[in-house]
Amino acid sequence: MNKDIWVYVEQIEGKITNVSLELLSEAHRLKTKMQRPGQVVAVIIGSQLEELISTVQEYGAQKIYVADDKSLKLYEPQYYAAILKKLIKENDPHILLVGASALGSQLAPTVAAKVKTGVAAHCVELKISENDQLVAVVPAFGGKVLGDILCPKNRPQIASIKQGILDKPVKIEAVGEVIKVDLSFLTQVKTNLKPLKICREEPKGVPLEEAEIVICGGWGVGDQDTWHYLEKIAEKIGGAVACTRPPVDEGWAPGEHVMIGTSGKSVRPKLYLGFGISGATHHICGMKDSGLIISINRDENAEIFKVSDYGIIGDIKQVLPLLAEAVTK
Ligand SMILES: Cc1cc2nc3c(=O)[nH]c(=O)nc-3n(C[C@H](O)[C@H](O)[C@H](O)COP(=O)(O)OP(=O)(O)OC[C@H]3O[C@@H](n4cnc5c(N)ncnc54)[C@H](O)[C@@H]3O)c2cc1C
Repeated sequence: MNKDIWVYVEQIEGKITNVSLELLSEAHRLKTKMQRPGQVVAVIIGSQLEELISTVQEYGAQKIYVADDKSLKLYEPQYYAAILKKLIKENDPHILLVGASALGSQLAPTVAAKVKTGVAAHCVELKISENDQLVAVVPAFGGKVLGDILCPKNRPQIASIKQGILDKPVKIEAVGEVIKVDLSFLTQVKTNLKPLKICREEPKGVPLEEAEIVICGGWGVGDQDTWHYLEKIAEKIGGAVACTRPPVDEGWAPGEHVMIGTSGKSVRPKLYLGFGISGATHHICGMKDSGLIISINRDENAEIFKVSDYGIIGDIKQVLPLLAEAVTK
């Protein structure tokens, strides 16, 4: 039986995303755990991809399917999913790894539905069990437990994982046979999408991924007025404001683009300051590798203290105004 591990290599505007390189390294790691391993295979879809192939080879793809056409320049879910479906049907891979980016989070389930298999979404760890089965570890019940997701009967076993959760990618030079995908069938694929224009919104302040200081607020911040103190502190000390899920839902935080965790971003700042955060696995897995972690919570048993270098037991409503005043001075 075919035991190949496939990686969907996502590119945006001719640049391979970091998570794709992380997944290539992860595919090699998983391969070493298998009793009867196959090859690490990459699939890349887009337009004018020639220059990207050497990078995919440098990170260890032993075979690369290249679907290159100007109709694929922008992500078009119907086309991209149809290409992956065709390749999967023809080659029957064992595992397919996809980055849990905005694009990958749509593409993975679309492909899974087309080839009738399952997806373990937003995994925090991947393992191989005795019979070369993929074990995808996913937080469950509000992040309080970790569940092992198995897909024993159908193939491929699909898993998506966020950027920054896995180890940094390492180069493993491979010859990487390049196979051009015949795209003539695309004329029969129906699409009801037409790009009108590309709009870009530049984020305000320091981008979260690049910030050396992250000021993160959780449900314990309590209201919009108190939230403003986080912004004030971040502005004064040159940090970026981030959040857990509840402040996005409440509308205190500007949106999901500043959320940290399995469905948000993974960050590794030099300093992470957490205010009113309980420490659910969904959040922890996106910040645990920060340099210095300082958390403030009124509950001395909060889980967040287990991953913190310093814990302050206190009321946010009292601490935040004092801290904002101190940094202003
Ligand atoms: C599929 C899925 C994906 C998810 N993805 C993410 C994700 O990417 N990122 C994420 O963050 N969450 C995610 N979640 C939600 C996650 O499980 C938790 O519910 C969330 O992280 C909890 O946020 P919190 O710590 O801010 O809130 P809570 O768990 O409610 O904790 C609030 C904390 O604040 C403290 N507190 C309250 N008032 C005060 C005060 N006045 N002073 C001091 N301390 C106070 C409390 O003691 C408590 O510890 C996801 C959930 C699911 C189901």
